[in-house]
Amino acid sequence: MSNRFDGKVILITGAGSGLGQASALQMAKEGAKLSLVDLNSASLEETKSKVLEVSPNADVLLITANVADEKAVENYVKETVEKFEKIDGFFNNAGIEGKQNLTEDFGNDEFDKVVSINLNGVFYGMKYVLKVMREQGFGSIVNTASVGGIRGVGNQSGYAASKHGVVGLTRNSGIEYGQYGISIKAIAPGAIMTPMVEGSLKQIDPDNWEEVGKQFVEPNPMKRFGKPEEVGYLVAFLLSDQANFINATVIPIDGGQSYKY
Ligand code: NAD
Repeated sequence: MSNRFDGKVILITGAGSGLGQASALQMAKEGAKLSLVDLNSASLEETKSKVLEVSPNADVLLITANVADEKAVENYVKETVEKFEKIDGFFNNAGIEGKQNLTEDFGNDEFDKVVSINLNGVFYGMKYVLKVMREQGFGSIVNTASVGGIRGVGNQSGYAASKHGVVGLTRNSGIEYGQYGISIKAIAPGAIMTPMVEGSLKQIDPDNWEEVGKQFVEPNPMKRFGKPEEVGYLVAFLLSDQANFINATVIPIDGGQSYKY
């Protein structure tokens, strides 16, 4: 077993489910101390018990917080540093898809909601974590964008705007902070089978969503959904010291779908 994260402190938002949970498990297996943030405290407890199954001595802090609330973000960063004294890696990942609709019908409230979680939440996280990392003189950040942050998907105005914004933030801040030894990158997952994607398929057809899923992945070169643990492997690599020179860029993990036409 690799020990890339021995003595390292990793902060993860959206850690109660899907990609955040899978990444927590992977880095816990490799020795990380974890500060796990989510809106849903029951799901955080679930992640913690799974972490302790794979890494019984793991040091885990759970923080219930809404990433769209700047004060709550300032607080989760403060609590993490109070307990662990540093932040080596930050997986800035919490996000929602929002309701699918044509642009004209998308709705201002829905647009604001999706952008405030997916984009403002990522910005606030970077704002407070980067201050800590600049003072300590090291660190890496992985922001969760999406294929919807590098390509048009359709029916997802809020999601597309927010995820393209995450890519912009990543490029901008990566340029600023490289000189301090800090690397900042984004991942652009395609369809990975998590509760979020299940919910999305159920929006299309609640009774037949598994069949809808099969049709959905048909155009993918690999003809399948990605697995959360595959994203966990990528995030662990990107937050490890091995990936320090990868900066201000976006890494797709989508079976090749975003390059197909
Ligand atoms: P998920 O729904 O399984 O997990 C998201 C987690 O974020 C949940 O535990 C939820 O409680 C938490 N969360 C939601 N809003 C929050 C808020 N305001 N504050 C704090 N926590 C909040 O979804 P997932 O598939 O694991 O998605 C994780 C990230 O990956 C999201 O940013 C999503 O947009 C992105 N993404 C997912 C896919 C995919 O196919 N699954 C593809 C591209 C991008």
